[in-house]
Amino acid sequence: MNFRDYLKNYPDENGRFGEFGGSYLPPELQKAFDETTQAYRTICLSQRFIAELRRIRRDFQGRPTPVTHCENLSRELGDGSCQIYLKREDLNHSGAHKLNHCMGEGLLAKYMGKKRLIAETGAGQHGVALATAAAYFGLECEIHMGEVDIAKQAPNVARMKILGANVVPVTHGLKTLKEAVDSAFESYAKNYKDSIYCIGSALGPHPFPMMVRDFQACVGFEARDQFIEANGFGPDVVCACVGGGSNSIGMFSAFLEDSCEIVGIEPLGLGPELGNHAASTTYGSKGVMHGFESIMLKDEQGEPAPVYSIASGLDYPAVGPEHAFLNSVGRTRYEAIGDEDAVEAFYRLSRSEGIIPALESSHAVAFAMKYAKEHRGKTILACCSGRGDKDVDFVVEKFGFGDEFLAKRAAEGKRF
Ligand SMILES: *Cc1c(COP(=O)(O)O)cnc(C)c1O
Repeated sequence: MNFRDYLKNYPDENGRFGEFGGSYLPPELQKAFDETTQAYRTICLSQRFIAELRRIRRDFQGRPTPVTHCENLSRELGDGSCQIYLKREDLNHSGAHKLNHCMGEGLLAKYMGKKRLIAETGAGQHGVALATAAAYFGLECEIHMGEVDIAKQAPNVARMKILGANVVPVTHGLKTLKEAVDSAFESYAKNYKDSIYCIGSALGPHPFPMMVRDFQACVGFEARDQFIEANGFGPDVVCACVGGGSNSIGMFSAFLEDSCEIVGIEPLGLGPELGNHAASTTYGSKGVMHGFESIMLKDEQGEPAPVYSIASGLDYPAVGPEHAFLNSVGRTRYEAIGDEDAVEAFYRLSRSEGIIPALESSHAVAFAMKYAKEHRGKTILACCSGRGDKDVDFVVEKFGFGDEFLAKRAAEGKRF
């Protein structure tokens, strides 16, 4: 397949990436999503919109974020001739890449004359990023969250409230993400005239996979320019962690026409048994859930399977449809990295480079480290999607400060 003009031609006008994507919604909600699609298709071409988003990226978010050459870490692996580089989304305002699409969605809401942003959140990262955008644009923000998650994610709930968001507790069913999605959809169906729904990754019904990809593409285009300026050539491999697939699709979209290998890193959690991981592309199959068609993990009834990862931002039972498509045509491939490998990467990047990565990002770093150990004279560019401050308490409680954990890995012959 030829990738010239790919970003203009995919998805098609129905939001399809080949056989994946689309929109499967009840009529009332479909009407609301169609309105967002129409508005986005027009507004995203407006010079005023583009100029304002550029200014926000620079003056509020602190973009461009740098690309850092991890010289110490590279020296420690293999014969030291394979070089690891990181795109530093941990340095994006609010500490992760999620703000890239939330600011885009907020600006779109402003141009559409909406007064409220509605979303659900699981671990709370999307809720915090969206509340940040709402505060910036002077919009109301309504975040639906299961009661169980509210209890587990107290610091993120506090952040959302400080930022002025209305956190709506969801008290029925299992009181987690699935019920929060239903509750948010219900509120949106009632209020879409003055509200916009904001999905937190490159998934869901059209236009979100396209819109979130476009808003995240700054990650990849910046990184490609920065890497080439520093080295005179592009990287041999580009990788990023894949939950729903937003930081990764943003990163990948700039490199599709190049000859580099592109690898998405999924969470293998505790192992390949269903329920122990969230490696949707690696172990999943085709299906429709949550309003779109993609590759997903299903239980015996064909319902979304239970998933697990040590990184709460990665535990989703499907991938965005564009990943399913790029995988099907062979332009990207997917590998799974387990909890313990990610935790080793978390400690080693911290100690060798002075960067504490999010546990999600640690999956991409772990892959880069494994790759560097096994290859000679190559360059690999990984996306550090977020900073690890949010994970520090949990990691210390479970694994300590790293000495023992790393010594045990070495003794077991598992250390990278
Ligand atoms: C949410 C999150 C992810 C996973 O989401 P994607 O949409 O797959 O990018 C990865 N890293 C961090 C830091 C996150 O907060």
